[in-house]
Amino acid sequence: MDVKDKLAILADAAKYDASCASSGSGKTRAGSTIGSTEGMGICHSYTPDGRCISLLKILLTNFCIYDCQYCVNRISSDTPRARFSVAEVVSLTLEFYRRNYIEGLFLSSGIIQNPDYTMEQLTAVAKVLRTEHHYGGYIHLKTIPNANEDLIEEAGRWADRLSVNIELPTEKDLIRLAPEKKKPEIVDAMQGISEKITESREDRKRGFNSPRFAPAGQSTQMIVGATPTPDKTILKTAAELYDGQKLRRVYYSAYSPIPHADARLPGQSPPLVREHRLYQADWLLRFYGFDASELVTESDQNLSLDVDPKLAWALANRHCFPIDVNSACREELLRIPGIGARSVKRILKIRRFQHIRMLDLKKLKVAWNRAKYFVLTIDHNPAVKQLDMLDLHQKLRQPTQQLMLFDAIESATSGEV
Ligand code: SF4
Repeated sequence: MDVKDKLAILADAAKYDASCASSGSGKTRAGSTIGSTEGMGICHSYTPDGRCISLLKILLTNFCIYDCQYCVNRISSDTPRARFSVAEVVSLTLEFYRRNYIEGLFLSSGIIQNPDYTMEQLTAVAKVLRTEHHYGGYIHLKTIPNANEDLIEEAGRWADRLSVNIELPTEKDLIRLAPEKKKPEIVDAMQGISEKITESREDRKRGFNSPRFAPAGQSTQMIVGATPTPDKTILKTAAELYDGQKLRRVYYSAYSPIPHADARLPGQSPPLVREHRLYQADWLLRFYGFDASELVTESDQNLSLDVDPKLAWALANRHCFPIDVNSACREELLRIPGIGARSVKRILKIRRFQHIRMLDLKKLKVAWNRAKYFVLTIDHNPAVKQLDMLDLHQKLRQPTQQLMLFDAIESATSGEV
């Protein structure tokens, strides 16, 4: 099989993994002669489903000895198989980079022989790129739980980001659909990476010349909708990973039905708007001071699909509004629907010099159609009278639509939630 055919198979096989983004990476590595993670001339390219920008996103191989039921590459699948050599991945990365097709490499793999052997192969790609070709671009390597610690150490030395996929939100889900994977082993692997990242950062802060370890941090992916697990549990797992393992990102990936799937799996994907709401809720957990338990209730454990999670919270907690933008503290301002963290920062700055009027908020480009019901300004805001109207939810609901994933991620990361 030639490299082009392998690429067709192994790039397609990698599209299900959402755990890649080059955010958090620094500038080109010192001493490198090619490769930049930022700046002019970077070409953004998309995989067929739009999940990844500007990265050559491939598997080293889609052979796998595991049998995760939600995965097209599982051992029992009859999907066409292919395998790259280390030299082939190195050459493809360099060629694509030189042609400005990509800004980096995201490399994952099915598990071949055992975790150590697989990790060794993945690490070898990064090492050859860095040491033999002085490649300074972004590298994200998938880490295999249970791989030897020395291999992880080496992987973190050459890669910008490492990720271990948690895949499913609960231990019970994993037992059911991915019996070879154990949540404690996955969390242990994340913990080991997290400690090494912290150690390397602290050493460097103290002025030691120790090598950098995964400077862009670690991320993970959770598949949504492969099991009936509700959003409440998904967000709780995400919050635990952010707190305990200091993850840079949790990516949510709507389950995509695969051919000849196990009968326990749903026949269709969940609406992508559910994935979109999870990204918005994730944003609220990380940057807006919300707790997972505030966003989903015991009675309804899934996020609303027709309004965003911040608006849903505000509608359910109308007694906390209206909020006076001229006197509220930062934490209160962050709770106002339609006003993002960036606008809050500007409001706090502007009001040191002047009283804030409706027009000022509109000029800040807050989402006024949502914010107007929840804020008091120095001038008269007639919309605030409608705060207690029973049909306000109805008025503000957005028609649920099947969003494209890329729209969802863009919107979720734009900050105005
Ligand atoms: S280990 Fe990864 S590649 Fe292998 S079957 Fe499971 S999810 Fe698929």
